[in-house]
Amino acid sequence: MFLTDLMLIKLGRWLRIMGIASESPAPDEIDDDVIIYKALKEGKILLTMDKGMAQNAASTGVKTILIPSKMIDVEDQLTYVIKEAGIPSSKLRNKVLCTECGSPIRDARREEVEGIVPEGILGTTDRFWKCSSCSHVYWDGSHWRNIQKTVAKVKACISESGA
Ligand SMILES: [Zn+2]
Repeated sequence: MFLTDLMLIKLGRWLRIMGIASESPAPDEIDDDVIIYKALKEGKILLTMDKGMAQNAASTGVKTILIPSKMIDVEDQLTYVIKEAGIPSSKLRNKVLCTECGSPIRDARREEVEGIVPEGILGTTDRFWKCSSCSHVYWDGSHWRNIQKTVAKVKACISESGA
C-alpha cells in the first residue's frame, strides 16, 4: 500500500509492525525519480517529508502523503499517515510483528532462547518470543513493552478521531 522514501525507512518498518503493507527502497536507491516511478508502476502511496519530491510525485500522478518536516517522532508519523490514508483502527493488527523483518512472532520456550537472551534476563521472566523468519528473540522486558506501548498509543490516537 505504501512506499516510503529513504528518510522514512523507520516509519515503513513501524507500519509493517502494525500490519500495514509498506515497502522502503534499498539503501542505494537514492534517485527520487526511481522511487517515484516505482510508486507509480506499483500503484503505491508515496510517503515523504521532502516537499520537492512530493511535488514531483504529484505531477507524475502518484498519490502522495507529505509528512510535515517538523514531525520527527515515529509515533506521530504513524498516526498522521494512518489518519491521512483513512485506515480504520480495525484494520490494524493486534499481534505485533518482528521489528527486524516484519514476520510473525511465536512463543518460545526457555530452552530455545538460552544463550541468546542475556543471562540476567533468564531469571526475571518466563515469557519469550522468537521470530518465525529471522529468529530474532524477544522477551518480556523494556524493549518489548516499548513496542507494545507505541502500538497502543497510535491505536488510541486513531480511535479518538473516530476512524
Ligand atoms: Zn524477524
